[in-house]
Amino acid sequence: MNTHRATGRADHPGEVTPSAGPVSDNLGPDLAELAHNPVQLRAALDGADAATLLLVLVQFTGDHDLLDRARPYISGPLNYHETMPDVLRSEIRDRLATVLIDYAQGRRPLPPIPAGDALRAMLSTAAGEDVAEDYTAMMREDLEPAGVDPRGMVWRAAPDPARLAQFPVAIIGGGMSGLCAAIRLKQAGLPFVILEKNQAVGGSWYENFYPGCGVDTPNHFYSYSFFLNHDWSHFFAKRDELWAYFEQAADRFGIRDHIRFGTEVVSAVWSDSDSDWLLTLASADGTHEQIRAKAVISAVGVLNRPKLPDIPGRESFAGPALHTAAWNNDFDWRGKRVGLIGTGASGQQVGPTIAPDVAQLTIFQRSPHWVVPNPNYFAEVSDGMKWALAHIPYFARWYRFQLFWAFADGLHATLKVDPAWDDGGLSINAKNARHREFMVRYLRSKLGEGSPLIDKVTPGYPPYGKRILIDNNWFEMLQRDNVDLETGRIARIVPDGIEMADGQHIALDALIYATGFQASKVLAPMTITGVGGKDLHAFWGPDDAAAYLGTMVPGFPNFFMLMGPNTGLAHGGNVIFITECQVRYILGALRQVIEQGAQSVDVKPAVFADHIAEVDRLHAGMVWTHKGLTNWYRNDHGRVFALLPYRLVEYWQMTRTFAPEDYTIT
Ligand code: NAP
Repeated sequence: MNTHRATGRADHPGEVTPSAGPVSDNLGPDLAELAHNPVQLRAALDGADAATLLLVLVQFTGDHDLLDRARPYISGPLNYHETMPDVLRSEIRDRLATVLIDYAQGRRPLPPIPAGDALRAMLSTAAGEDVAEDYTAMMREDLEPAGVDPRGMVWRAAPDPARLAQFPVAIIGGGMSGLCAAIRLKQAGLPFVILEKNQAVGGSWYENFYPGCGVDTPNHFYSYSFFLNHDWSHFFAKRDELWAYFEQAADRFGIRDHIRFGTEVVSAVWSDSDSDWLLTLASADGTHEQIRAKAVISAVGVLNRPKLPDIPGRESFAGPALHTAAWNNDFDWRGKRVGLIGTGASGQQVGPTIAPDVAQLTIFQRSPHWVVPNPNYFAEVSDGMKWALAHIPYFARWYRFQLFWAFADGLHATLKVDPAWDDGGLSINAKNARHREFMVRYLRSKLGEGSPLIDKVTPGYPPYGKRILIDNNWFEMLQRDNVDLETGRIARIVPDGIEMADGQHIALDALIYATGFQASKVLAPMTITGVGGKDLHAFWGPDDAAAYLGTMVPGFPNFFMLMGPNTGLAHGGNVIFITECQVRYILGALRQVIEQGAQSVDVKPAVFADHIAEVDRLHAGMVWTHKGLTNWYRNDHGRVFALLPYRLVEYWQMTRTFAPEDYTIT
């Protein structure tokens, strides 16, 4: 058996980590150039969001009167929009043009990062509602001047290169989270290898390529904070552009040489005597080998094992049948009678995309999802917006905060059950009820009053109980002549179609399963064996994964998980944000071990248990555990294993600095 150590390059041990800068540097003339042409500069500002420009202007000038004047015209997260009078918009743009010219020509310095109440007032205006004090520290970090990356790890004392060389790290998976870990390890000068089962990076964005596949979180938020892309073609990019972004990240940060493609990790076993992990790897050709690593970072993702529905007769279907996450480009749906089972995020994307070209599309909906509109969902990013993102100081950061609020923490209050609220189970608090009204109004407006579809697609559970979906022309699609929505129970799949419980036979040429993933089988099918032979899956039980901060489990030293249990987001959010928080925390743990001259770090059982108890307590008061609701976030016993109960800012605080007192460092 071939045995060697995981290796990687230790390029710049101890270096302060600079930002890599934007993905594209070719986005029009820079500010200094445009400052010589005030008319052109002023025209460029017309293409950018006035509310975001206002924040930059206030940062430069400290003019809070202007904030007060604009605040009534910027509305909150569900349906964010800015309705300032044109005269106010023009005033903002005119004044900012002057300020930017002064800045570009050296008459005005880069403004300081605002703090305290002033920053909070800016954040509240940006969000369209009152923002709590705890966001100011996070935003101050985001407003670090360009070129400084505050989330990278910095050694407290220059590390001995020999010591670093003795600390190889194995990352399992080269998707979004594995790349993030690799980038940070490389910046810290730690040796590492990525073990990737596919032949490419990108994880989900490589594996999923069904028609219509794309993000439902806006890209200017759904991207690495240290690798902004000002050149997204759309606010919500499709799969090819996303995959290209992660490919580009791998190249820009020099990660590719550290990746072993076509290599699957079968098992990881902790050695008490050597204080390291022995990983058994399987290559695509069936050969096995073993490597050792001082630490393991599992970055295997959550939604990557397709779940086929447990419907009798599934195997008997004679035509092509495929899962969205196991698509086959040879499959041609054009002119066929296609059945689509599942109406979640994947179904919502594939259905409207193929509907115009199929002979007949029959959608089998077991339960409806809540669907919200977004004015930017199909929109291209204008050249003016790209220019502002790339060239106006702080504009991209303020815009990112606005998205953070609108798509994550601004929605959090709608998720919490108000025990005094009772409207028969339709909603869980007053705000949630307002969101419900908005969504019902929206779907009714799309379908037309009196439409028989209204009852079929209106969920009986509160908004956010299942993953909220952005309208991808779903309601338009349902009204097409060649689309049917079946809401009855499927009895069985037969060779030429589907038989419903009411006896109806629906003839089909092809079947698409948009039926989700085996999310509860966390880290399956790997075997992870910790201290004293402790088996991770035996410890968890069949479907009850849990981890401290979603990252560490007691008895598994130096084993870290990215996107681990209870770190998922279902109300919107951005899993890249969570990943960056985790990576920072993991790097903090490794720094502690290495600087202390220790070998391993293991979370204390009591710290783990207290954390899980708190997570469970919080979830008991949140929408996911609403009576009668089904979703993939809970296990067979009803415990929410998948989702984060906290606001993102709280998770940022919890993971900001590694807390040695919570660990046994040996
Ligand atoms: P999903 O949300 O789990 O939806 C699965 C769908 O299949 C549901 O409508 C479910 O009905 C239905 N279903 C499952 N088993 C069935 C059966 N036996 N008979 C009939 N219907 C059945 O899966 P997904 O749409 O693939 O999305 C999973 C997650 O992936 C999302 O929550 C999201 O986090 C992520 N995702 C994101 C995007 C994006 O835009 N960024 C795109 C795709 C996926 P019930 O609701 O009744 O269970």
